[in-house]
Amino acid sequence: MNAAAPPLALLAELTHRCPLRCPYCSNPLELERASGELDTDAWVRVFGEAADMGVLQVHFSGGEPTVRKDLERLVAACGALGLYTNLITSGVLLDEGRIAALAGAGLEHVQLSFQDSEEAGGDRIGGYKGGHAKKVEVARLVRKAGLALTLNMVVHRQNLHNLPAMIELAVGLDAHRVEIAHVQYYGWGLKNRAALIPTRAQLDEATAVVEAARQRLKGVLVFDYVVPDYYARRPKSCMGGWGRNFLNVMPSGRVLPCHAAETIPGLRFDSVSDRPLQQIWETSDAFQRFRGTGWMPEPCRSCDRREIDWGGCRCQAFAITGDAARTDPACELSSDHQRIVELAQTESDRAPPAFVYRGLGAGAARTEPALSEDAVPGAGRS
Ligand code: SF4
Ligand code: SF4
Repeated sequence: MNAAAPPLALLAELTHRCPLRCPYCSNPLELERASGELDTDAWVRVFGEAADMGVLQVHFSGGEPTVRKDLERLVAACGALGLYTNLITSGVLLDEGRIAALAGAGLEHVQLSFQDSEEAGGDRIGGYKGGHAKKVEVARLVRKAGLALTLNMVVHRQNLHNLPAMIELAVGLDAHRVEIAHVQYYGWGLKNRAALIPTRAQLDEATAVVEAARQRLKGVLVFDYVVPDYYARRPKSCMGGWGRNFLNVMPSGRVLPCHAAETIPGLRFDSVSDRPLQQIWETSDAFQRFRGTGWMPEPCRSCDRREIDWGGCRCQAFAITGDAARTDPACELSSDHQRIVELAQTESDRAPPAFVYRGLGAGAARTEPALSEDAVPGAGRS
């Protein structure tokens, strides 16, 4: 068995409910209903167990975590345990009172997602009318409340033309940091890959825009830039290595090494309802299976980067090759690399198909147009 140092951070996926319907959502295709979510006491117990293990940060995520009416209590519970708290939100359900309540409960940081730099694109991509304007308002309120703000811009072939305007928006909204993240192809993103994947030329142009802005805005705005794996030469160190730094607790209480791990068949995920968090982290099948280097095939096993990128992403290896134990095809040294290159070229050269918007249950997924002002999947059941 591989020894496990304590994780740095816990991603608390409080709910899968969300008023938006982004076609690249990282939630699973089968979303958890509100009736299956952990209750307040269970989450507070999990945070206590996490603090005892040595976890330092809690990231509240979803779905849309502000759907949960107990969010302030959960933030306060983490604060009392000395845990740093970050809220990852679409923002559309927030108002000045709720932001003040969250700040009062001790929230330290807000990561606010945008779908585009402008209203028409933002509302279309998120599938939520009025969403973009609301986000702009919420960003201002977050800063007014004195909270640190990161804007999360998810980019793809249908909004990259607005990248310079997205950066200007982040500056105008007084964000501390902007994360420009190309879509990663898991969950709904994988389902919509052909509608989202940029051409190589689009990617190169975007990278040049980011690098120029990074220089120009030194001291004003911090940039994080995540490129699509399909054009990479070496894989990213996914989650900093499987079961090394992060754990994800799903709305149901199942504990995952990464948010997409349930796409890999044959892994057994334990629940915080059945076992202590520390025991799950140290001994559960899902965490042990790809922890460390012992599971690695060639060429990873004898590669000098094996403890740098940890063989890349297991979910991507499965999505492309059907075998999660192969080298990530994003790596040029993988015998599967050519498949990912050809997929990217073929799909990005064709006209994009219509989005399949995320929805609750396979029958709820819809193609364009799908603008909903009030459709909160599972609303009223928390
Ligand atoms: S639908 Fe969009 S806003 Fe909602 S959780 Fe998914 S990515 Fe986030
Ligand atoms: S062969 Fe494996 S360890 Fe080496 S760079 Fe590629 S993915 Fe990373």
